[in-house]
Amino acid sequence: MNANRTSRERALLLSRNSRANAGFACLRSGLANGQFQRLNKKLLLFDIDGTLLTSGGAGEKALRLGFRDCFGIDDDLTKVEIAGRTDSGIAREMLAAHGFPATAENLARFFDGYLHHLALELPAQKGALLPGMLPLLDALRQREDIVLALLTGNLERGAELKLTHYGVWHYFEFGAFADDHHDRNALGPFARERAKARHGYEFPPENIFVLGDTPHDIACARAIGARAVAIATGKYTSAELSAHAPDFLLKDASDIGAVLKIFETP
Ligand SMILES: [Mg+2]
Repeated sequence: MNANRTSRERALLLSRNSRANAGFACLRSGLANGQFQRLNKKLLLFDIDGTLLTSGGAGEKALRLGFRDCFGIDDDLTKVEIAGRTDSGIAREMLAAHGFPATAENLARFFDGYLHHLALELPAQKGALLPGMLPLLDALRQREDIVLALLTGNLERGAELKLTHYGVWHYFEFGAFADDHHDRNALGPFARERAKARHGYEFPPENIFVLGDTPHDIACARAIGARAVAIATGKYTSAELSAHAPDFLLKDASDIGAVLKIFETP
């Protein structure tokens, strides 16, 4: 594309860049370098299922088989809301539905069974990264002003299994998981604390973006005053997500340029 620019277009571009650089230098002169960079960093918190990838049903099948192994009941999960909720919240609901107390022991047994089956089901089911996600992560990883992390209802080990299977675990610095709390709206502060511990800086809410595919992700962003980026690649349509008034709404992440523009918002 650059090769096709006319000399006038190139001149205009150079002129614009030099003006932008002058503004940058002017702002920078008032702040120490490190402080300047920290103030402009954006924290991106990614949901996993329906946002980064679909496991092809591996997650739900592993929940069902894990529960059956531990408690002898084949719950077909038709009465349980899965999308957008935490594994620990789902486990508590399944235990309660069948009269088992949500003791630490019962939860640990269930999670062990779930993780065992998840490792087996991921390669057995036909899942995939969702459109645009791999090139988007590659582009975001190049930017020094972007911090990539997870905010997910998965257990940390479950998240690691899923993202490793699809080759993207290493893109993320840290995360907040179902191990931290069973209420998704309580996960944001864990992510913020970990970001602060790693970067020595409290990210202001307007520099935090929560990317997810359900109204629960939008609510989770609101709970910490962050910006909600809804992506309609899960069980909810664009119209359904729009009703929850996200700050940004995408059909999917395939238009990388359009997605990157979101994170240039001042
Ligand atoms: Mg999701």
